[in-house]
Amino acid sequence: MLSVFSRELAIDLGTANTFIYVKGEGIVLNEPSVVAIKRDDRGGNKILAVGKEAKMMLGRTPGNIVAIRPMMGGVIGDFEIAEEMLRCLITKAQGRRRFFKARAIIAVPCGITQIEKKAVQEAAESAGAREVFFIEEPVAAAIGAGLPVSEPKGSMIVDIGAGTTEVAVISLGGVVDSFSVRVAGDEMDFSIQEYIKRKYQLMIGLSTAETVKLAIGNASPENNLETAEVKGRDLATGVPKVLTIGSDEIREAISDKLNSVARAAMTALERVPPELAADLVERGIMLAGGGALLKNMDLFLSSAVKLPVTIAEDPLSAAVVGAGKVLADLRILRDLEKG
Ligand code: ADP
Ligand code: MG
Repeated sequence: MLSVFSRELAIDLGTANTFIYVKGEGIVLNEPSVVAIKRDDRGGNKILAVGKEAKMMLGRTPGNIVAIRPMMGGVIGDFEIAEEMLRCLITKAQGRRRFFKARAIIAVPCGITQIEKKAVQEAAESAGAREVFFIEEPVAAAIGAGLPVSEPKGSMIVDIGAGTTEVAVISLGGVVDSFSVRVAGDEMDFSIQEYIKRKYQLMIGLSTAETVKLAIGNASPENNLETAEVKGRDLATGVPKVLTIGSDEIREAISDKLNSVARAAMTALERVPPELAADLVERGIMLAGGGALLKNMDLFLSSAVKLPVTIAEDPLSAAVVGAGKVLADLRILRDLEKG
């Protein structure tokens, strides 16, 4: 019964989160791109968990168990593990459906190499896909955010993920320019960790840094100062300690990273052909990815590049929704790449 609808799927293989969308049903899976692995004495790996379950083990695993993010940094650190993770997630999304001989469209980071694509393709094929297409993540996000990419007008998107910030300029269903920089949410977390260590001699974990960022992080000053408690280890005494930190401090900690994101957008603007530049002045920039949810990110970017900035309706799922739209009509995109 279900099989009629389950032959086509769209996947956003992000560095932090993976989404799977099934045609006719919508998003059926949204899990962290994390794998928990047990290393045996002979150097072999056994996968213990993937997704949500594995994320809970990040940073708190004993000895021979490690929780890793195979896509961290926007490239595939470990092919075999990334492949296995994707296969497990597709199988999980499949449930009672059958993806046998399915068509899959997969959104991947712009900087991904041919070898990495091959690994992703193999994972999808081993989970039942027969035909695989690739779409660059920001392009998918632009379509998902509703930008009129098939019109003869330029559209620009900035997708701030965990590992990379991806920028694309699209017109007439073709990609005019796209690239990525390796500064995004993860780098902000590192900066927060560094800042608290330097200023307070307190060592906090990266997931604590991310939690603080989500709670009180902001990209542009506000009147009301917010505070949050952070728990870490006092580097002088070696014992656990709690500290209250302000939203202004978090902004200071991540300001270099924010400036890098703004520079990436500027670079794209400097490279666009004059005709399209005029369109962008009028229509501005669309923001997607989890980083778009950082408080006042739109205000910050808008004042840095002097253009209007809009946040996608659902920044986290924009890429998979866009890939799903392309699945429904492969003609939306002129230069869609077949794997
Ligand atoms: P990817 O496409 O690389 O998997 P996502 O688009 O899923 O990344 O975004 C994940 C990143 O967004 C993480 O670094 C996360 O900390 C960040 N993020 C998510 N929500 C927020 C928020 N409300 N404020 C700031 N950053 C956020
Ligand atoms: Mg993404």
